[in-house]
Amino acid sequence: SLKISNVSKVFDKNVALNNVNLDIQAGEFICLLGPSGCGKSTLLRIIAGLEQPSEGKVYIGDRDVTNLPPSRRNFGIMFQSYALFPNLSAFENVAYGLRNKKMKTRDIEERVNRLFDMIKLSNAKNRLPSEMSGGEQQRVALARALATEPDFLLLDEPLSALDAKVRISLRKEICNIQKELKLTTIMVTHDQDEALTMADRIIVMNKAVVMQSGTPEEIYEKPENQFVADFIGSIN
Ligand code: ATP
Ligand code: MG
Repeated sequence: SLKISNVSKVFDKNVALNNVNLDIQAGEFICLLGPSGCGKSTLLRIIAGLEQPSEGKVYIGDRDVTNLPPSRRNFGIMFQSYALFPNLSAFENVAYGLRNKKMKTRDIEERVNRLFDMIKLSNAKNRLPSEMSGGEQQRVALARALATEPDFLLLDEPLSALDAKVRISLRKEICNIQKELKLTTIMVTHDQDEALTMADRIIVMNKAVVMQSGTPEEIYEKPENQFVADFIGSIN
C-alpha cells in the first residue's frame, strides 16, 4: 500500500499541492484526474521521490520513505514522451535496468522475452525506437518500467501522445497487464474517459487539492461538488 499524508508542495510562491491525503491499497489502479496545472505530476513525482514535499510524508507499506531517494522506492515509471534510449534496440531498452543490477545474461533474456510476449511485440525486439510507431514505443516503455519487478507503477499521461485508436487499444492492454500482475498503479490523466474506463478508483484534483475520491460509478453518478460534476460532464 501507499500513503500520502498531509502533503503540500510550494514552488516559490506557487502552491502545487495543498495538504493532500491519499490511501492506496495494494493492487489498486488509481487514476489522478484533473485539469492542467492542478498538481497531478507533482504528486506523482513526490511519490517517486523525484521531488521532495514541502510538508507531509509518503509511506510505502509501513515504511516512511519521505527522505529516501527514488532508487530505494522500487517503482516503475512511464511518461508521456517515450523517452527510450534512441541508440539501443527495444530489447536492450528493456534489459537496461537488469544489466545495471548485474542480473545473469540468461535470466535477463528469459525475463525480457517474457515481457515482449506480454506486450505482444516479440517480432520487434531488435528494432531501434526510431523504427517503431509511437504506440509500439510506449509498449516498450511499459515493458521497461515492469522489467525490474517493481512494487508499484507510476504512469504520467502515458497515452496522451498517441492517436485515438492506438490509445484505446493500449488502455485495455495496460489494464490487462495491471490486473494480471496485481500491480498497484497510479496513472495521471486529464482525460475523463480514460479515467472512467481504466480506474478502480479515481482521484479528482483541482487547484492543488483533492476534490473527490471514488469509484468511476461514484464519481460519475454522485459528484460531490460542482467542479467534479462539470469536469466529468455527468448528468447532475
Ligand atoms: P498538466 O496536466 O499540464 O501536466 P499537472 O496537473 O501535472 O498539469 P503539475 O505539473 O503538477 O501540474 O504542476 C502544478 C503546479 O506547479 C503548476 O502551477 C506548475 O506551474 C507548478 N510547477 C510544477 N513544477 C514546477 C517547478 N519545478 N517549478 C516551479 N513551478 C512548478
Ligand atoms: Mg502533468
